[in-house]
Amino acid sequence: MNVRDSEAVEALMLAAGHEKAASEEDAELVVVNSCTVRQKAEEKAVGKAGNLIAAKKVVGLMGCAVKRMGADVFKRLPKLDFAVGPRAFGLIPRIVAEGRYPRLELGEDAVPEGMDAHVEGGWQAFVTLLLGCDNRCSYCIVPDVRGHEYSRPAREVVAEVAALARRGVKEVCLLGQSVLRYGMRNKAWDDADAPSPGGYTEPFPRLLEALSAIDGIERIRFTSAHPKGCTDELVRAYAEFPKVCRHLHLPVQSGSDRVLAEMGRRYTRAEYLAAVAKLRALDPEFAVTTDVIVGYPGETEEDFEATRSLMEEAGFDNSFVFKYSPRPGTRSAALPDDVPTAEKERRDQVLLADQEARGLARNERLVGTVREVLSEGPSKRNAARWSGRDGGNRIVVWEIGDSPRPAPGEKVRVRIASAHAQILVGETASIKSNNTTAVAASLCRETRRRGDAGRALTTC
Ligand code: SAM
Ligand code: SF4
Repeated sequence: MNVRDSEAVEALMLAAGHEKAASEEDAELVVVNSCTVRQKAEEKAVGKAGNLIAAKKVVGLMGCAVKRMGADVFKRLPKLDFAVGPRAFGLIPRIVAEGRYPRLELGEDAVPEGMDAHVEGGWQAFVTLLLGCDNRCSYCIVPDVRGHEYSRPAREVVAEVAALARRGVKEVCLLGQSVLRYGMRNKAWDDADAPSPGGYTEPFPRLLEALSAIDGIERIRFTSAHPKGCTDELVRAYAEFPKVCRHLHLPVQSGSDRVLAEMGRRYTRAEYLAAVAKLRALDPEFAVTTDVIVGYPGETEEDFEATRSLMEEAGFDNSFVFKYSPRPGTRSAALPDDVPTAEKERRDQVLLADQEARGLARNERLVGTVREVLSEGPSKRNAARWSGRDGGNRIVVWEIGDSPRPAPGEKVRVRIASAHAQILVGETASIKSNNTTAVAASLCRETRRRGDAGRALTTC
């Protein structure tokens, strides 16, 4: 979400006549976007802004940490030029043009100006779908800093994605704290909008249908989701629209019903697992990823073991583990942070080791299959390899050999030869476009060299 907000600020500043500096050292003005979900994230952003102020730049701080600190941000950073909350970033070009520092704009529940501003170029784009959150999970500061939930009108979102497609964007990722709540708090579809051709009645699946109809868009992703939103209509949309990637980031937070109730997550372990089962019934390779918090106040060894076993039962393709960090003003901040740091660390390490083994086992099932990958470019670690992602958001790398280099965003079919916990390694690739002949010829050469003529014919 912060990456998207920063990109919008960049686009707005370029439109206002500024230029992007070649490096941080080169810049006259630097805006630091901040997170406050955990205390460490906030410290990092404030520390960064402090260093830039010391380097005598004009410095702005934006995002959630600003909203949390309010005017106190200037006590932490007395020489900060301006600070804007997460829903006020659209004001930055005006604040800079006026140059009256110091300046604080918190934005409250405003709908940010310029939310649809994008930087030219690139084949992937984030699109903000929902702002804020009304869930109020006990540990989470997001509702206090990002404000009330607001769904953008479907017509606006469809227009933004269509405009991105005209600029060459092939993959969009829709963003919200709880995307499956789209159109629940406020109406997203207008009575004047054309009815859903497929008879979808729920706002989010209906939006997936509308976005799938946009020419040029090849993949639609979204994050994050709440299991309550895993409805039959959502599963129907996954089944009917091949552009909708079969990957869902479905944060579970805990596998213990007692802890889930304390957190106010509004689902049980059984309900969560039922949501995962629904997705995997559609497609056993459906990628499900999650977030987990270890060391929530009062989390016992038994609670932790319940999380471990849920993660195994759900068969997560990937997971992000966070050590509980008390956030001011949240319900759980009133509880003693009683799981010692060393124990949080141990639980974190145990879950990471489990995930390594599970990720490897899940990925090994894909060895021998052919994955459709959108190419991203040369692998960062090994220039002889190309890299991209499949629909499940799995990283796929393959030897490029002397075959043509696929352009960024180009569709490639890769046969998987081996697997690691986080990466699939491919052996052959063919580009799904008009230059198939050239690729096929090069693949034939490759496979003949390995004396695998039978396979070469099939591949070609
Ligand atoms: N909206 C998403 C959801 O409902 O799960 C998550 C958004 S939150 C910004 C991202 C992740 O940060 C959460 O899923 C949670 O695991 C983690 N998180 C949030 N508050 C936390 C806290 N106080 N301590 C540790 N981790 C936290
Ligand atoms: Fe925070 Fe997500 Fe819960 Fe909203 S749904 S309060 S963003 S964890």
